[in-house]
Amino acid sequence: MASVETVPVQRRALSKVMHAVGKIQYNETGLATVVTRVDGFIEKLFVDTTGVRVHKGDHLAEIYSQDLAVAQRELLLARSSPGGVANLLESTKAKMRQWGVTDAEIEKILQTGKALPYLTRYAPIAGTVTEKMVVAGSFVNRGDVLYRLANLDSVWAALELYEYEISWVQPGQPVELTAEAWPGQTIHGLVTFISPVLKEDTRTITVRVNVDNRAGTLKPGMFVSALIRVQLLADGTPGPTGLAGQFMCPMHPHIVQPTGGTCPLCGMTLQQLPGRAVTVTPEALQVLAVPVSAVLDSGQRRLVYVEKARGEFVPVEISLGPRAGEFYAVVSGLHAGDHVAVRGNFLLDSQFQITGQPSLLSQEGMSPAAHTH
Ligand SMILES: [Zn+2]
Repeated sequence: MASVETVPVQRRALSKVMHAVGKIQYNETGLATVVTRVDGFIEKLFVDTTGVRVHKGDHLAEIYSQDLAVAQRELLLARSSPGGVANLLESTKAKMRQWGVTDAEIEKILQTGKALPYLTRYAPIAGTVTEKMVVAGSFVNRGDVLYRLANLDSVWAALELYEYEISWVQPGQPVELTAEAWPGQTIHGLVTFISPVLKEDTRTITVRVNVDNRAGTLKPGMFVSALIRVQLLADGTPGPTGLAGQFMCPMHPHIVQPTGGTCPLCGMTLQQLPGRAVTVTPEALQVLAVPVSAVLDSGQRRLVYVEKARGEFVPVEISLGPRAGEFYAVVSGLHAGDHVAVRGNFLLDSQFQITGQPSLLSQEGMSPAAHTH
């Protein structure tokens, strides 16, 4: 008559879903600064604007250096003097290498007997020129920055997660990102780092997501929305990501392999994601789940009404894991196949309360079996 509706408690795959916002940042492993190691005049800038994409080893600028001219004369003198000057030859070579003259250039000078007019600075990495600090003709001092480069093949998304969410996230966790600039497009990333420090002003913890950006869609400074789906284990704890202990390229997050080594694309040393490789059975991912609508929550206790016989209900106190969509993971108090009221349960509870029986707000006289924690 109370039109109580029940559903059986079942095991099912559950995922806890979290939303977060974040900002795109440079991947710090893909940043480089080009400095001059000699005093001199900028003779020529091959790369004269920011935003230019360069390959590793591309020439960027030529510098005229008096010191270099002197050193090259020494080098040629040492070469042409027979015997006793090997030390001078080697020390001059070493000095020139320190200034950034390549071995190939030194060999060329020695072979041709001709001094290089200028010192050339080359791109140490492939990437985009983000800053150009000098103009042609200017004088630079040793240590001055000429360019800053950033490789944007991979970027970081810095997400802000609340304290209560952080226990759900681990390195290797897949993250789905969306950016306002690309509506409808989902960009995939992997959590690689969780800040050890809480930001006191926002009460959030920064989670770094490494994102493959070879398509060039994400630009540092952009805001992104993140969706994190964490599979739950039967005990209500987060399931393994499957990537713990695996090795990943810091610039190419899609390069993941079980053993260490170097990245086949960029040659960088692969970094190991923290944690131990764990495999779980498909059964372990089947979580005893109760619909959210079945649960009466007093803030202190959580109760469901279980149908013991047709039309006969008893209140059962249950212990719940996290909420996953329209379900809660059940830690204790229920068994698969139990029928719980999902409609009319509030009415049942007030009926129990009125008639002085144990209910949500009154624990008196509840069956001990129901007190499982
Ligand atoms: Zn790589």
